[in-house]
Amino acid sequence: MTPDSGHPLQETRTNLIGLSREALTAVLVEAGEKPFRAKQVFHWIYHRGAKDFAQMSDLSKDLRARLETRFVLDRPGIAREQTSSDRTRKWLMQFDDGQKAETVFIPEDDRGAVCISSQVGCTLTCRFCHTGTQRLVRNLTPAEIVGQFMVARDSYGEWPTPTDERRMLSNIVMMGMGEPLYNFENVAIALKIIMDGEGIAVGKRRITLSTSGVVPEIRRCGAELGVNLAVSLHAPDDDTRSMIMPINKKYPLKELMQACRDYPGASNARRITFEYVMLKGINDTAAHARALIRLVKDIPCKFNLIPFNPWPGTPYECSDAETVEAFAQHLWDAGYSAPVRTPRGRDILAACGQLKTDSERLSAKEQRLRAEQEAAAAQKTWAEKEAAL
Ligand code: SAH
Ligand code: SF4
Repeated sequence: MTPDSGHPLQETRTNLIGLSREALTAVLVEAGEKPFRAKQVFHWIYHRGAKDFAQMSDLSKDLRARLETRFVLDRPGIAREQTSSDRTRKWLMQFDDGQKAETVFIPEDDRGAVCISSQVGCTLTCRFCHTGTQRLVRNLTPAEIVGQFMVARDSYGEWPTPTDERRMLSNIVMMGMGEPLYNFENVAIALKIIMDGEGIAVGKRRITLSTSGVVPEIRRCGAELGVNLAVSLHAPDDDTRSMIMPINKKYPLKELMQACRDYPGASNARRITFEYVMLKGINDTAAHARALIRLVKDIPCKFNLIPFNPWPGTPYECSDAETVEAFAQHLWDAGYSAPVRTPRGRDILAACGQLKTDSERLSAKEQRLRAEQEAAAAQKTWAEKEAAL
């Protein structure tokens, strides 16, 4: 693009953020630098949070100038930042091509989790999820995934990387927009950078990846990353689950449960989390709870009951408080931890399943129709089942 076209000059320099250690070494060597420079630069980017080469004070002036001509340190831009009355903070990140995705920080007293997006939109169409009403626009790159966490750290001034005990941004949940296991390669590069002890240094025990159940990649995730696994279960039987989560038709519960059983490191000390969104009249009866307990019988797991967060145009409702209580009690009685997640950041639409941007929506009518049909069918299936029990 020329300056005359009215657009800014297109950046042709390589972004160093989001390159694995090996790739970073390779591009620096290719630019004529010594391999050990990669270690210094990595430290500046991910431990010190440097935003430009000028800050890298232990590199010679010449070297800094050379780096500047060939490389950039490009974080996502912030299109909007909002902080909820409960201190939850949400950023609408904007990437170089103008696409956007959301990142949320959920603070506890002296720590908290950053909820990171993996895609713009989602190819899956879970009926209760706002992101699912949006078509997939694209996968996020490793730079855009790591960059979300770096922007969050900028916002809280957490550079250089503080010790574990002194971090507000202590945990990461891959629970933002998109299905992380449908973007596994990029998510894996990004998480390996994030876990590197010489940089951002968030350990694998403090990272949880949530999936709707992409069975083959669950195995890879366990073998290559070893982070905590959360599975969006949401129903105890294939009929109901396929109704509200079409991915279940591809990877039904039997296969999904086997992948959970096989997940490396799954033990009582490190249990798999089953997320379960409470949908009124769809998945919330005592019969569902009993079926759920049978389903997960031999898996070291805990539940996370999520009150359904409504969004404009959804046909679903959240189960009543008493129903959620009773459901949780069934699970407790069977020996499972089953906390009900308190919705956070509702006033800024930052709660689970509410993340989305304005791009490429299905029409409101399309969504409503589809969801109503599915809900009616799910109810019918359960009415039939309960009658047969
Ligand atoms: N795609 C991944 C991660 C993102 S969604 C997954 O599906 O697991 C994070 C969690 O929010 C998932 O458990 C998802 O099922 C849940 N969720 C989606 N929409 C929701 C809503 N409207 N209310 C409550 N939880 C919702
Ligand atoms: Fe995608 Fe997860 Fe939403 Fe399903 S719940 S549509 S997998 S983001």
